Amino acid sequence: MKKTVGIIGAGIGGLMAGAFLAQEGWQVTVFEKATTVGGSAGIYARKNRRFPTGATIAFGLEDRGLLDTLFQQLGIKIPFDVLDHPMDVVLEDRSISLYRDPSLWKAELVRAFPERSDDVLTFWHALEQLSEAVYSVTATGVSLPIRRKYDLGKLPSYAVSHPGSMLRLARNALRTVEDLLRMHRLDTYKPLREFLDAQLLDAAQTDCTKAALLPSSLALAIYRRGSFYVDKGIGQLSEILAERIQELGGEVRTASPVKVLILEEERWRIVTKKRSELYDTVINNSGVSFGTGTSHAEGEDFSWGAFRIDALLKKTIRQRVLGGRPLPFAAQIVPDKKQTILYTDGHGPVYVTFQPAYNRKNERVEDELLMTCSIHTQSEQWNSLSDGEYLQKKNRVMEAMLEEIQRVFPIQDYVLSSEAGTPLTYEKYIGKTEVGGFPLTVRNALLKPKSVRSPLSNFYIVGEQSFPGPGTLSSALSGYHAARAMLKGRL
Ligand SMILES: Cc1cc2nc3c(=O)[nH]c(=O)nc-3n(C[C@H](O)[C@H](O)[C@H](O)COP(=O)(O)OP(=O)(O)OC[C@H]3O[C@@H](n4cnc5c(N)ncnc54)[C@H](O)[C@@H]3O)c2cc1C
Repeated sequence: MKKTVGIIGAGIGGLMAGAFLAQEGWQVTVFEKATTVGGSAGIYARKNRRFPTGATIAFGLEDRGLLDTLFQQLGIKIPFDVLDHPMDVVLEDRSISLYRDPSLWKAELVRAFPERSDDVLTFWHALEQLSEAVYSVTATGVSLPIRRKYDLGKLPSYAVSHPGSMLRLARNALRTVEDLLRMHRLDTYKPLREFLDAQLLDAAQTDCTKAALLPSSLALAIYRRGSFYVDKGIGQLSEILAERIQELGGEVRTASPVKVLILEEERWRIVTKKRSELYDTVINNSGVSFGTGTSHAEGEDFSWGAFRIDALLKKTIRQRVLGGRPLPFAAQIVPDKKQTILYTDGHGPVYVTFQPAYNRKNERVEDELLMTCSIHTQSEQWNSLSDGEYLQKKNRVMEAMLEEIQRVFPIQDYVLSSEAGTPLTYEKYIGKTEVGGFPLTVRNALLKPKSVRSPLSNFYIVGEQSFPGPGTLSSALSGYHAARAMLKGRL
């Protein structure tokens, strides 16, 4: 008899776990609340267009990269474009373009930080060296916290062949990004701090003072290491994984929110509106709790919510805005201090991306460009408002974000349509107001990492709340780690 697993949530973590288990002969059933798969790295359709639900840039898809390796093991090839100019970071007094090409990047650092260019170059070199070590160690398959031998992956042999890297990692394990800045006497150099903070708030959910150096070195260096636009949008990653599970005999049931979970004689009963079935094992990828021990969201840790805008622009903006110079794929814009609402009701930079537009049939809409915008916000600020207050707040935040984007890319004359979503929108569609996982502090990332194992038997927790943390790449890795733990059992 095949072993059965019920997976709650078709986010990238749950789907990755499901695909590996289905490949190894498990009977996989994925329950998804929304009508589409992918969670906050998915797609939703509206007025004959497809929009991303959150994530836009993929990482680790380079040949033998972390994500490429997982997909290769599943026999999946992902079509993508490499982003040579993935992002601009726009600060109050300067703008920094991230280029993949090393010589362009070096010249950009010198241009953007003329006051301290030598120190900044040395700092960046140290950061990239660390990030390479972190990437290589992650590629060994190590999964924290270590509970079984196989959680180490190939780390022991890596440690023997790369003692220098291991020493470097050990020396920096408890450091923050600020510590590295201090070592380079750059902690008081405001432009560099702001540049790092803008990116860290998005990728590590916290700033230089608290962001753990090891995972943050990777989060900061990874845009240049390899940023990818997945053909037809990042939601394809999840759609392709869901198809693979089905090809392998599994089921992916959308519009099937799990209501109740009950442990019955060592098996788990999953109850939806229509069915009630028993499974040998459960994986919770939903980020929500179904009772004590079923989710990392039960702890005290803080997570951000997101405010998003999706807009369609006339494609002619590409030529007009920057005088023919290509638009970056993304920009992080630190809001003007006068935009007080983006400081009281938002947090961190306004993140904007420009990508091709697709219709419901997944056909390219040639004369349009899709623009997505997001900013962190505290979810609780959106609760308990009257309908009128909610609408007013939503419109004010939206206007302020569009004004900030307009400052950098004069979009005004090109906007065809725009619509905003708040943490309550996320709750409605994917069941949680907080998205993006927990901040990558030293405690969360290294001292007390959140395991894919739960205190409950035959119950696993995957996705952005588990090690290695936020983002599509990390969530996918957590899915792989959980599948491995289930396949290897008590070894
Ligand atoms: C605005 C924004 C921008 C981002 N940009 C990027 C980016 O560019 N690159 C990047 O790598 N990452 C990005 N991220 C982060 C990334 O999207 C997430 O970290 C990652 O997708 C989370 O995956 P997950 O496996 O935890 O599942 P989630 O995406 O959290 O999915 C959980 C799933 O569970 C389902 N669910 C909830 N309750 C139930 C229930 N009761 N029954 C059944 N199903 C349920 C939900 O509907 C959802 O589909 C972004 C996130 C946001 C919010």
